[in-house]
Amino acid sequence: MIEKQHIINRFVSYVTIDTESDPASDSTPSTKKQWDLANKLADELKEMGMSDVTIDENAYVMATLPSNVDHEVPAIGFVSHFDTSPDFTGANVKPQIIENYDGKDIVLNKAEDIILSPDYFDDLLQYKGQTLITTDGTTLLGADDKAGITEIMSAVEYLIQHPEIKHGPIKVGFTPDEEIGRGAHKFDVEKFGAEWAYTMDGSQIGELEYENFNAAGADVTVKGKIVHPGYAKGKMINSMYIAQDFINSLPRLETPEHTEGRQGFFHLTQISGKVEETNLHYIIRDHDKEHFEARKKVMLDLAAEINAQHEKEVILIEIKDQYFNMREKVEPVMHIVDIAENAMKAVDVEPIIKPIRGGTDGSQLSFMGLPCPNIFAGGHNFHGRYEYVPVESMIKATQVIVKIAELTAEKYKS
Ligand SMILES: [Zn+2]
Repeated sequence: MIEKQHIINRFVSYVTIDTESDPASDSTPSTKKQWDLANKLADELKEMGMSDVTIDENAYVMATLPSNVDHEVPAIGFVSHFDTSPDFTGANVKPQIIENYDGKDIVLNKAEDIILSPDYFDDLLQYKGQTLITTDGTTLLGADDKAGITEIMSAVEYLIQHPEIKHGPIKVGFTPDEEIGRGAHKFDVEKFGAEWAYTMDGSQIGELEYENFNAAGADVTVKGKIVHPGYAKGKMINSMYIAQDFINSLPRLETPEHTEGRQGFFHLTQISGKVEETNLHYIIRDHDKEHFEARKKVMLDLAAEINAQHEKEVILIEIKDQYFNMREKVEPVMHIVDIAENAMKAVDVEPIIKPIRGGTDGSQLSFMGLPCPNIFAGGHNFHGRYEYVPVESMIKATQVIVKIAELTAEKYKS
């Protein structure tokens, strides 16, 4: 049995350490305080008897649980990130434990009248009777992704304590700075030494994901010409009007607020302008590689079209790819998804397989040579004060990890 109080204690000990990352910093980890948890995790891994526990100069923590079977089994890995999102403060997290949740409003903070309500967050209702961990309404919780870390730590600890469960080599990897898009950047895939891995970084129980967006960012610079407004006739070019034309000429319904599932979009994230120059920032997203390329072309063609209406080039676009859909790297090794799916079913978790409308560390890792689907960690409402995690989901995720280890060893028994 994976003991409930043990999971709670471990999780609370992690979320009460502030590890907020900082996109403005160039160092790795982006904030010094991330070392506090990284060091603690390395110590705990050593203490529980893991082998080859290392923490590198960028705070990446790795460890190995050696195989306990005679036959060859490929090494598999489990990966989580220990930073929390800079979208909301992660300092002084005071977790509240709600036992036997009754399905009603949860008062997170009486003084500030902050309420976590199933009227608004109806996912809560599926956890009636379970133990929820919430915030006190003033911080995020950090279940993203300290729930994943709790589960991986608890699973390897369980395997160490239960040598009768047969498994191949298990690798554990904890990374900084995932929330600012740099979790995988300095991940040493070769040193990690796994044939494939799973990020424990999904949301609700059952989630299993191996498709994510193809992603690019576009910086659009619109050039105008400033002249005294009193003498501007035939001379002034107002970059803001040109920018407005550009914005309005892109498909208005292909935006995040009008799309779902596998539908891609253009998303205007920022705009700033004066007569002389206007700057737009877009993100471009699509699961389908061809559609993704077509979207980039739509922007470039539109700019060319507008430029052709002017004497000089007025629109400059710089498009940079950010990450790609891991599906193309996972599909050739589909058994790694099958094993996870079977592991879930074996511990009575209904798999929910769906495309991620975003990216994960796993997509980058997949393109770095480590195919890496994403598995639920159990939390909800990430990056804000309404974040919560059911303890029962963390226990199930821990069981899924143990089961994946077991099924992988079985699969390679000849
Ligand atoms: Zn995460």
